[in-house]
Amino acid sequence: MYGAILGDIIGSPYEFYRGNKTKEFELFSEDSVFTDDTVMTVAVAEALMDAGTGVTGTEMKERLVKSMQKWGRKYSYAGYGGMFYRWLFSDMTEPYNSFGNGSAMRVSSVGWLYDTLEKTREVARWTAEVTHNHPEGVKGAEAVASVIFMARNGADKSTIKRYVEDNFGYDLSRTCDEIRQGYRNMATCQNTVPEAVTAFLEGQDFETVIRTAVSLGGDCDTLADIAGAMGEAFYGVPVNLQQECEKRIGEDMKAVLKRFYRTLRQGEYPQNHMADFWSDDISENTIYNAPELDISMEDLYASPRFLKNSVEQSSESDMPMKMLYASPPYEEIPMNTVYASPGFVGKSKDLLKRLLGGIFQKR
Ligand SMILES: [Mg+2]
Repeated sequence: MYGAILGDIIGSPYEFYRGNKTKEFELFSEDSVFTDDTVMTVAVAEALMDAGTGVTGTEMKERLVKSMQKWGRKYSYAGYGGMFYRWLFSDMTEPYNSFGNGSAMRVSSVGWLYDTLEKTREVARWTAEVTHNHPEGVKGAEAVASVIFMARNGADKSTIKRYVEDNFGYDLSRTCDEIRQGYRNMATCQNTVPEAVTAFLEGQDFETVIRTAVSLGGDCDTLADIAGAMGEAFYGVPVNLQQECEKRIGEDMKAVLKRFYRTLRQGEYPQNHMADFWSDDISENTIYNAPELDISMEDLYASPRFLKNSVEQSSESDMPMKMLYASPPYEEIPMNTVYASPGFVGKSKDLLKRLLGGIFQKR
């Protein structure tokens, strides 16, 4: 969620900007504000967490409609499209066959909360269908959630690209340089999602994913929201950017954001293999960027009780968690190293042991 919200905030000053399309710009200015993308991302995440994993499509959709209307009415000046705005304030909650990019910009939490790609796609479909029941609207949401699911589970970029091309038929053959010229704001799924995926694929880390997306122009905040959500799943979000994000959203949104990461960490979704242990602050990227940490990846690699081959097996992933999975029984993992991770600072050793135990019992 940090990734999506940061993309929205960082892209927002450039949404109607007609200047030169560059990757060199100030990440934050006083015009960097959240927009509809953030409000609906929060609304969807809250509905999913309230619903849990066992609900039917009908029940989930009822919750989604309620949550989206609640948040949308509260933040009514966030820049919604006309049709969506009418839907937000209407008692009629029928979908209106939209293929706008709204279904793709709000879907990021779905990519994190479910155990299989099939379930992820099903729930993504539900989140789209409450308004964007046009096939392109549904496809956009499913594609974005799929990329996030695959990225957070350690898939490499060529695998992700192939999956998106094969399953959704998007043309990912163009480079961002080829897209950039002539790209304009169309705010449709089919003219936003492939471009966002391409920006994600070309980026080298979280920040360059966002910069690349914004540099394409068009519907910048939504483009960067979608690319940022994918970037987070692949690279993690540096702590300093998480803090910039928190400064720029409402306290109520921050509460949902915190609850989301707590949910992933504490494994309230028991079938979710990464979730038990996932921490927003624990990616490799973050470890390099967190000045308060006395832990480095070198330390992790060098640790005598951390088997070398498990590290090498996971070398395609930026996530230390992946290494934990690949590692031998948890006694082998240096407890001090794990305990020093920022996600666990202040947490009891008992909790940590319980989490670790949970992971390895499942193997
Ligand atoms: Mg927007």
